[in-house]
Order: sequence, then structure tokens, then C-alpha cells
Amino acid sequence: MSSTSQTHYTVEKLSPFVHCIREVSTNLLMYLIVGDERAVLIDTGSGSGNLYDFIQNQRLLPAKMKLLVINSHNHAEQTGANYQFSANGKAGKSHCVEDLCASGADRKYTLKLDSTFDWQVKPYKITRWLKHGEVVKLGKNANITVHYGPGHTPDATFLVFAADNRLFIGDTFHQFDEILLTYERSSIKQLIQTIGSILKVINESDKPREMRFSASKTDSNSPCLPMLKNYQRFLFSIVAGVQKEIPLRIDEHEGSRFESRDKLMKVVLSRNLMAQLKLARTARDDSSVQSSPAESNSTL
Ligand SMILES: [Zn+2]
Repeated sequence: MSSTSQTHYTVEKLSPFVHCIREVSTNLLMYLIVGDERAVLIDTGSGSGNLYDFIQNQRLLPAKMKLLVINSHNHAEQTGANYQFSANGKAGKSHCVEDLCASGADRKYTLKLDSTFDWQVKPYKITRWLKHGEVVKLGKNANITVHYGPGHTPDATFLVFAADNRLFIGDTFHQFDEILLTYERSSIKQLIQTIGSILKVINESDKPREMRFSASKTDSNSPCLPMLKNYQRFLFSIVAGVQKEIPLRIDEHEGSRFESRDKLMKVVLSRNLMAQLKLARTARDDSSVQSSPAESNSTL
């Protein structure tokens, strides 16, 4: 057994279907879902160790089980070990790997090797593009439904796993750690719409109160409600300009930081997004001066 893969990852079983794999050096979370016919690995971490070997050595997959890798979005923290599962060139996919998948929402964005992090992602090849609403069959009564969920990035997805009453939401939300909307194509407006779609899925599920979410950081197995509803309110209050803004500069990110009173939610907006929000507020205030004061209470 490789000592390298052993020391780079830990694994915890969350349910009869789902294992959470933690990358030790980064605390990034990945998920392995095993059905009767097929397994899905959500994200591959930063690539600090050999994740492929770890999964094999820990015997997390039944023999000859087909494996699909799905990236929640194109960031180096989620795609760093992709190359171990699907190499470029003639070698193609690694043994037992059926496909390396990404959301087809914005292929151009997804195909760009992410350069916003300190390390270089080794080349890999997406072999399947997932459509919004597409169902990935894992076996009897176990399906994953793909939803496009832009906001953090334009290609972000969230996955609904009804058999386990669980959502996999990548970097769309997690507690304590900052949620960064500082990338070139981050959008708070789209993020709010995505949270709306997530809340709709939760409310339409059989047991909304028992539904859980698994994120790329911190929250491997947290109740969706009331947290995600509170997050939606928090984002609305940022857009409305009623949250206290803390200007900051961290590494290459420059912008403003917002924190909920209970300190569970932290969001960082780029300077560009802040400028757009301020412009929209000014335009709104100007139009409300011209119309009646009663109409000034609009949202976005
Ligand atoms: Zn990300």
C-alpha cells in the first residue's frame, strides 16, 4: 500500500452510499457515492497525493465497479487530481474510470486550466459534458440529478442525490470559510438565483427538514434548513447595501468582505462586483426620486 496516498487523505462514511474523503493538507472535501451499478467521485482536490491509489487501496469501490468523476466547478482545488483519473492523449481514461465529467454550462470556462491558485493543475481531459436536468444512474433507485448552479463560477453545478436526501453543492455555500466571489466571472446575482433553485429542490423533496448538504469545505453533512434560507437572506442584504462592508486585500483577491452577525457566513466580493452593485443602487435611487417614494423599495 502506498504510504503517500495513506497520509494525504482520510475517509469517513456518511451514509450507506456516501464516503467523504478529506485531503489532509488543504481540508478540501471530496465525495464518493457508490450505487449497485456505478460509483461517482465528486471533485479530486488539489492533487497533493494520489487520490486514485487511495480509493483503490482503501477498497472503497467493489471490484470492477465503473467510476464517473464529476467536477463541481473548474477550480484547481477541485480538479487538481483529475489527471490521475483521465489522462490526456491516447492513454485516455484510467482503469475502471468510465468518464471524467463537468457541467456543460460554459465549456469555454471549464476548458481553461484554472490559474487562480498557486499550483499548476496537470492536464486532463473532460470526456463527458453534463446537461442541466441530466440523470446519472447509480443503480436501483439511486440517481444523481445534475443542476447548473452558476454564481461562484459560471460552470458551477449542484447535484441532487434523492436516495440519500442530500445535495452536493461544491463552493456554492459552506460555513466559516470565506465564500469567494472574486473570480473573473463570479456573479452574486446568479448565486442568489442558484440558492433560490436549491431552496426549491429542498422544499419539493419528501423530507425538506431532514435534507443535508455536502460542500467542498467544512460542511460534509449539514442540515440544509434553515442555513441555506439564511444564506439567501444574507446575500439579499449584501445586494441591498445594508450589510457592513469590510474592504480587504488578501493575496490576489481585492474587494469587500461581509460577515453575518453569528459569523457563520462570510462572503467576499471583488472590487468589480462591488462597483456594479453600487452603480445599480445609485440608478435605483435616482429612478425612485423621479417616481413616487413608495416605489423605491425594489430589490435587484
Ligand atoms: Zn471554487
